[in-house]
Amino acid sequence: TRTLHWFRDDLRAADNPSLLAARKHAEAPGDILGVYILDEHTPGIRPLGGAAKWWLHQALCSLRENLAACGIPLLIRQGGPHALLPALAADTGADRVHWSRRYGGAERELDAGVKRELRDRGLTAESFSATLLHEPWTIQTTTGGPYKVFTPFWKALSQRDIPPPQDAPQPLGELNQSTSALTESGVSLGEIESLSLQPTAPNWAHTWPTIWDPTEAGGHHRLETFIEEQAASYHDQAQYPGAGATSRLSAYLRFGQLSPQQVWHSAGAVPHAESKTRFRTELGWRDFSWHLLYHFPELPRSNMRAEFDNYPWKVPEEDPQTFRAWTAGQTGFPLADAGLRELWATGHMHNRVRMVTASLLVKNLGIHWRAGEAWFWDTLVDADAASNPVNWQWVAGSGADAAPYFRIFNPERQQKRFDPDFRYIRTWVPEHDSAEYPEPLVDLQLSRQNALADYAALRGDG
Ligand code: FAD
Repeated sequence: TRTLHWFRDDLRAADNPSLLAARKHAEAPGDILGVYILDEHTPGIRPLGGAAKWWLHQALCSLRENLAACGIPLLIRQGGPHALLPALAADTGADRVHWSRRYGGAERELDAGVKRELRDRGLTAESFSATLLHEPWTIQTTTGGPYKVFTPFWKALSQRDIPPPQDAPQPLGELNQSTSALTESGVSLGEIESLSLQPTAPNWAHTWPTIWDPTEAGGHHRLETFIEEQAASYHDQAQYPGAGATSRLSAYLRFGQLSPQQVWHSAGAVPHAESKTRFRTELGWRDFSWHLLYHFPELPRSNMRAEFDNYPWKVPEEDPQTFRAWTAGQTGFPLADAGLRELWATGHMHNRVRMVTASLLVKNLGIHWRAGEAWFWDTLVDADAASNPVNWQWVAGSGADAAPYFRIFNPERQQKRFDPDFRYIRTWVPEHDSAEYPEPLVDLQLSRQNALADYAALRGDG
């Protein structure tokens, strides 16, 4: 039996249930093939942002190498999977097509259509669970509905067993034995370069290879280093952006180079109980974001709480200068500017500062969360279709969780609490205390009062 595995958000050889299932059916070299299809045109499928594309390029190179060690060729294609996959299955003589499930609305629709198409042609199409701790529909409230609040969701999730991770499939033969059959039938492998994922002129990512190792091995190395050297102090250091105390595993998880099960089980070795629980709880937030997106597929575009449709947010076109100053880290608030500059320079921003910059944009500067979400989508290496909009809506107050919608992070007070010695700020905004540094874009007190009045008006008690 020959199986074609369609890679999407599971770009790893190890702990990939679908590959292991394909291995059970395989008898000879060439019986397992992988394919990645860059899909930028199916309606509703969100094209990747620039930073994520940069990561994806390296992740595919690494995947091709790791699969080669298992004797599995990785084919590269570009276009609509609806037409491409059945044709590729026919050309390669595959009788099974496997994939790891996706949970966004448009993705589910596309995958269901492809599955029907393949089955109509007499092929076996099978999907697997590989990117979350638990399938989003299996965690339910006592009345059988979705959770909208994190704490009870987490309580339900953390009572379940998390299966231990598994190894990569054993090779059936050498890679060249597998590829020769392909080339005989006229099927080309396809070049990763042909996807044009890397920035060219200007190459804004030229320093990134010194910051990131976006390979599967790089993910494992980061995980081990974090668990052995940093995780014990996660409970009291993770909130400080200058401490470098978080795992920086988010992009590996986003692209499935690490499975959440691998991360969860590695965290079992953390000697400090509170650190272990806190870190695992963050993985819970990731699952919760996907749980919400699965049940509320409109949330990347629409306020989860409909009353927020009346909130008088501006779009960036109404105030382009302010929005530009925010994206460039020139707001005059050093902690926020440090975060926005870190984001631009590295494709990453510390979680505390993500909250501060988001709150500044939607609450003090009065610009719609969707504009900030789109900026993060383009600039984060971990840009995630669920975590990004869920966290933006959480900060904006328009999200599922009725956590105090009136919470407004004060960037000056946040600085005093979380970067008291300016360690983080000095790295990214060395001129913060000089005459070159811009004046604050807004009056914090006044803009806060305005936001509170606008929020109160939404609830009808203003
Ligand atoms: P750690 O503290 O080491 O956490 C471990 C893992 O838990 C992370 O790698 C991540 O997978 C998960 N995690 C942690 N916090 C959250 C959270 N609040 N929500 C969901 N998962 C979480 N995270 C993304 O992965 N992609 C995004 O696009 C994204 N956008 C965000 C936008 C805003 C406005 C905010 C406030 C947060 C966003 N986050 C996003 C969540 C969080 O900031 C990052 O996951 C975290 O900073 C990544 O760094 P780390 O791997 O060192 O985290």
